[in-house]
Amino acid sequence: MELEDLIKKFKEYSTEDTTKLEYAWQFSLEAHMDQKRASGEIYFIHCAAVAEILVDFKMDLETIAAGLMHDVLEDTTVSHEIFKKEFGSEIYELVVGVTKIETLKFSSRDEAQAENWRKMILATAKDIRVIVIKLADRLHNMRTLNFLTKEKQLEISHETLSLYAPLAQRLGIFHLKSELEDLSFKYLHPDEYQNLLAKVQLRFAKREKLLEEFKQGVEKHLGGTQIPHRVLSRAKNLYSIYRKMLKQNLPFEDIQDALGIRIITDNVINCYALLGTVHSIFKPVIGSFTDYIAVPKMNLYQSLHTSVMAPSGEIIEIQIRTEEMHHTSEYGIAAHWRYKLGESGADHHLDEKLNWLRQWMEWLQDLSSPREFIESFKTDLELDQIFIFTPRGDVKPLPVGSNPLDFAYAIHSDIGDACIGAKVNNKMVKLDCELKSGDICEIITRRNSAPKKDWLGIVKTAGARSHIRKYLREHGELKD
Ligand code: MN
Repeated sequence: MELEDLIKKFKEYSTEDTTKLEYAWQFSLEAHMDQKRASGEIYFIHCAAVAEILVDFKMDLETIAAGLMHDVLEDTTVSHEIFKKEFGSEIYELVVGVTKIETLKFSSRDEAQAENWRKMILATAKDIRVIVIKLADRLHNMRTLNFLTKEKQLEISHETLSLYAPLAQRLGIFHLKSELEDLSFKYLHPDEYQNLLAKVQLRFAKREKLLEEFKQGVEKHLGGTQIPHRVLSRAKNLYSIYRKMLKQNLPFEDIQDALGIRIITDNVINCYALLGTVHSIFKPVIGSFTDYIAVPKMNLYQSLHTSVMAPSGEIIEIQIRTEEMHHTSEYGIAAHWRYKLGESGADHHLDEKLNWLRQWMEWLQDLSSPREFIESFKTDLELDQIFIFTPRGDVKPLPVGSNPLDFAYAIHSDIGDACIGAKVNNKMVKLDCELKSGDICEIITRRNSAPKKDWLGIVKTAGARSHIRKYLREHGELKD
């Protein structure tokens, strides 16, 4: 990709002056001048590729510039001062954010740990654009993984599958989530991947005919009505089929998946017009219609969903939506950065909305019942979370204001009960010292040591408090 192509793509959706973008291109090119990638190409190829992914997401100028320079602070001799002076604090903060995530090395094979890491990344990156850049970076690294050693391939694929693909999913960037999953799948289980790929392609070929019939049916009916539309068939990504096979313990042939079709048009009225057309040609399946246009999902997803019966007896799942809704569904939160604050058509509360949305999606993922939802609403959600590391690199989320004693109890009640001191980042601290996100906290214990009554005045978390009370009560030191 050349600079001219990047600028051209950017101008398709933005009227902003691109001087800064051109400068970022030049700056990154020169900063990485002496570096090469594992493929033997010059390093800057990677930076340009990340920017290209971001411009395809229709991201704002600052994000693309930061994408071009995302490795400058970590891998080159450019100083923070100079970088900030040249590009201003917004782009600087984005690159600092990406660099921060870069330094967190994830190697755990434990699912619960992966969940904490995902939470931590979401919480650490104050600006959601940082995560989008990081995801674009990871996508390009996955696309070029074949140049690395087998060992590295496995390590990076594992990290991608447990950390970055779920993160993309959580942000609603399904497009990216699928590609990250399939690329990881390819390296982690090469035989299963090739096998499944062949079968899916075969099934797909058979379906082309059905899709063609469907298209013709719709075309014929729309005749002179001039409703602009395009029909896309959608395929499930390989890894999700594989997961389904494992989960249900079924061979590929028995995995049911209906032919999925999307019809994209220009405006909402035409979505309903197309729905009417489709229902008049094919018999709708009773109870299959859902209107996510009138009632959007909380993650901003909009579409009309229906299922119809093809003449051959096959069920076809249909989604009807506008181009804009389509973009939102493919790119999730990233889609909403198209509008820069202050530009015409901008939503001044977008930032707030996205923050709210980000939190909301986190809760949705984590909470299983409405009761839990209400309860956490009352307690933890009013507080912000911090993330504290054990010396071994495990992460525990805690409410802001927590101290080493809370942390000790968060690890295990036995650790809490036997706690006699703590080190934070290798320095001895008092038990009531307030922890900050990213602190490494080591709990010092002594066998036969016991909780003290005054701890009740120190701890901030309900869990720690209840353990201490329980202990004191059992040992007759606390009545009630
Ligand atoms: Mn990179």
